[in-house]
Amino acid sequence: MSDVIVIGGGVIGLSIAYELAGEGAAVTLLEKGEIGKEASWAGAGMLPPGNPQKATTPMMRLQAESHLLWEGLTKELFESTGVDNGYRLSGCLEVLHGNERYWNKQLAMWQREWGLVEELTTEELHDFEPALSPKIKKGFRLSAQGQARNPRHLHALRIGCAQRGVRLISGKPVIGFKTEGGAISTVITENQTFTAKKYCICNGAWATSLLTNSGAGGKVKPIRGQIVQLQAEQLPFTHIIEVGARYLVPRPDGRILIGSTEEDVGFQKQNTSEGIAGLLDFATELIPQLSTAQFIRAWSGLRPRTEDALPYIGAIPHIKNLYVATGHFRNGLQMSPGTAKLMRQIILEQSLFMDIAPFSISRHQNKVSTL
Ligand SMILES: Cc1cc2nc3c(=O)[nH]c(=O)nc-3n(C[C@H](O)[C@H](O)[C@H](O)COP(=O)(O)OP(=O)(O)OC[C@H]3O[C@@H](n4cnc5c(N)ncnc54)[C@H](O)[C@@H]3O)c2cc1C
Repeated sequence: MSDVIVIGGGVIGLSIAYELAGEGAAVTLLEKGEIGKEASWAGAGMLPPGNPQKATTPMMRLQAESHLLWEGLTKELFESTGVDNGYRLSGCLEVLHGNERYWNKQLAMWQREWGLVEELTTEELHDFEPALSPKIKKGFRLSAQGQARNPRHLHALRIGCAQRGVRLISGKPVIGFKTEGGAISTVITENQTFTAKKYCICNGAWATSLLTNSGAGGKVKPIRGQIVQLQAEQLPFTHIIEVGARYLVPRPDGRILIGSTEEDVGFQKQNTSEGIAGLLDFATELIPQLSTAQFIRAWSGLRPRTEDALPYIGAIPHIKNLYVATGHFRNGLQMSPGTAKLMRQIILEQSLFMDIAPFSISRHQNKVSTL
């Protein structure tokens, strides 16, 4: 019998399985489709920094812990699997393009939460990135912003899990649970049941039905994000360039990601002409020479969002052996190492590096849902 069954093979489930198996736990991971092919594959790979000494919110604390873990995890995975996940510090420029109030708020937030933020003059901004449109006059720089290549990181985690003895089972949608004496006794798939001592729900945007089925409550909503990928012969810029929720991410091989939309359209994963056109307009407004870059393709993914956009992380109250880690919305890749560390500490009953009450699934219990 496994010690833990992890349900869902995105970056959150894989990272937790990897972390638990690293402590000697026998782990089985059940994935409904292909491992690592949903939101975690679709993301842009941006890894904002964080500082545990300065973090003022639970999200920032988790983000800060994750920031500290990324480099070591990358090295460890590379040494054990030979897969380079593309992690590097490329820095980020948050530029003012439209909403000055939002930009000022972002600047204040990063100064408070991180500290090392450089506010740039127009000249400095264009010295850093000469290809920026002359219309862009203001920006600040976060030199510690990182990025990774999602498919490569997922590939590394998958191999790392297998090396640590995790049973990775794809094509097995979990459809429900059997309970006995206030605990889960079995997970049910279409044609098989699986038993473990403990169970962890990590199935992202699809989590609501399992949370409901288990009696845990809580709701997770899919929020579509579309991305366009271009190829430039020579990269016209080197920093990630952000304007609020939209961004350009340059990869060393000349690929450029333009992201992203935020759409509440249920489980529809297709790209739309409006979405693609909006992203292309955004990109060429910021970097005009991208109008001659080659269009490679577009894709989309479903971000898991809870009502207050904070993840659910922790034990499910009243069900002795059931846990949840999902709802990481726009920052699940960045927060995956910290989440995995926290879940390992929770599941293996070790001391916790932070207070997890703000992530409790029961925080909405007395509120009327607006989802
Ligand atoms: C366009 C876009 C850009 C993004 N950019 C960034 C970024 O730059 N930085 C960042 O940190 N985050 C980013 N994100 C967010 C990040 O990708 C998500 O927060 C993260 O991938 C969530 O991981 P997950 O493992 O919870 O979900 P998923 O990757 O969706 O994994 C859930 C898995 O559970 C499986 N599953 C579902 N139901 C069942 C079931 N019943 N039984 C078994 N398995 C099941 C699914 O098939 C899936 O593989 C982005 C997301 C999108 C869509």
